[in-house]
Amino acid sequence: MRHIAIVGSGPAGYYTAEAALKTLGDEVCVDVLDKLPVPFGLIRSGVAPDHQSIKAVARRYEKVAQARNVRFIGNVAIGPDIEIEELRGLYDAVVLATGAPRDRLLGVPGEDLANVFGSAEFVGWYNGHPQFARADPDLSGNTAVIIGIGNVALDIARILAKTPAEFEGSDIVAHALRSLEHSNIERICIIGRRGPHQIAMTPKELGEFAALKRATPVVRAIDLPPPEEDQALEPGQRKSVALLRSFAAIDEAQRATKPVRIEFLFYASPQALVGNGRLEGIQLERTRVVGNKCVGTAETFRLPADLLVTAIGYRTAPINGVPHDEAAGRFANENGRIAPAGDGLGALYCTGWSRRGPTGTIGTNRPDSYALMAMVVADLAASEADGGAGAEKEGSAGFDRLAAERGLDVVTFRDWKRIEAAEAAAARDGAPREKFVDIEAMIRARG
Ligand code: NAP
Repeated sequence: MRHIAIVGSGPAGYYTAEAALKTLGDEVCVDVLDKLPVPFGLIRSGVAPDHQSIKAVARRYEKVAQARNVRFIGNVAIGPDIEIEELRGLYDAVVLATGAPRDRLLGVPGEDLANVFGSAEFVGWYNGHPQFARADPDLSGNTAVIIGIGNVALDIARILAKTPAEFEGSDIVAHALRSLEHSNIERICIIGRRGPHQIAMTPKELGEFAALKRATPVVRAIDLPPPEEDQALEPGQRKSVALLRSFAAIDEAQRATKPVRIEFLFYASPQALVGNGRLEGIQLERTRVVGNKCVGTAETFRLPADLLVTAIGYRTAPINGVPHDEAAGRFANENGRIAPAGDGLGALYCTGWSRRGPTGTIGTNRPDSYALMAMVVADLAASEADGGAGAEKEGSAGFDRLAAERGLDVVTFRDWKRIEAAEAAAARDGAPREKFVDIEAMIRARG
């Protein structure tokens, strides 16, 4: 029997568990740990609440979670509750699938002003992540600025722009819906330090801007490269740029029919966030793109801003005892390998965003995790051929013993199903659930 612990119950975690089942069948026991009492990580807390079809992938993870030899162990934090080295002492392999839950910083003055948020915090607020549910952004001003021209920037702009009716069928949490209902924001600026050809936005997500009830996208024709240059783009990017071109073709009279503008501001790099304790504006430097690189022009300008969200990528949270690549913001690893087995410790790996950084779609994690599990299996076989890594590991039984000794309040998958049922029962009309936004409420709902 092989004993594998996976830390993190998001897409990378469950794809890894799925790959373990497919490759090792009945010869593996998998424990999937999460610091929250609820599973599915980014699916629950990152994917936009109005993108329910993307969230449907959780059903696939649920099948894995309910396999006889897979357990969900919620409400257990690495560090406070159990150290990585202790897990390695109990399992043949430990796979970190902890994602990248921390915001990258812009690194300009003023980031600590009130009403400035990173996307992890802002998205966590409207998705009800217990760590960020109380962020309470002030939406009473006119102008919201979003830094970054990736899909997360699109998500945030769309959420800020939608009418309450457009959230029908979504699982946006009640506190965010209430706040958005009273929002005064009429100008949403999405700021790119490079140009339209360098956007990191996918066509489906960008296309949704064309159908918003009260908001219109605004692109300045002058920012668009000559159309013939689009031919050099790969097809997906060409489609996205074509959408930007269609937005640029909307005339002012048409735009005036909707009260909210989502303005794309290209070739502008943040220099400072300004305000007196509270955000009032952003100082930007005009840029040019030279050979795909952003180059400053020394020309600066200021944009008023009442709310600012950076959507410039994420970092993996360090874990005590795990080497961290500070520059890249993820675990130091070689194709997912962090440390080999030895001295009575199981091997340590990472997968998903904590391995490669915050890139790709949910589905990208599947081949990643399958490739990682192939490596784990090969390493286990090689160590067995070498005479084994020592005594057989205790796996789940050892974890349970330790959890009992420490009085850990472990949440099982069956407990989660009760929490899930309580969330479904509390849902407003047409919504799939009303999420609990604090850990105590989740634990209480387990019954
Ligand atoms: P992203 O795709 O990496 O985009 C980050 C953006 O921030 C880029 O435009 C980048 O510009 C900009 N940026 C970085 N540092 C900056 C700085 N100092 N100043 C100004 N701009 C800066 O990241 P993301 O939007 O957070 O998305 C993360 C991943 O999740 C992506 O793979 C994304 O596709 C995925 N995602 C997918 C969906 C979906 O499929 N529906 C939804 C959300 C997220 P440069 O290019 O110039 O560096």
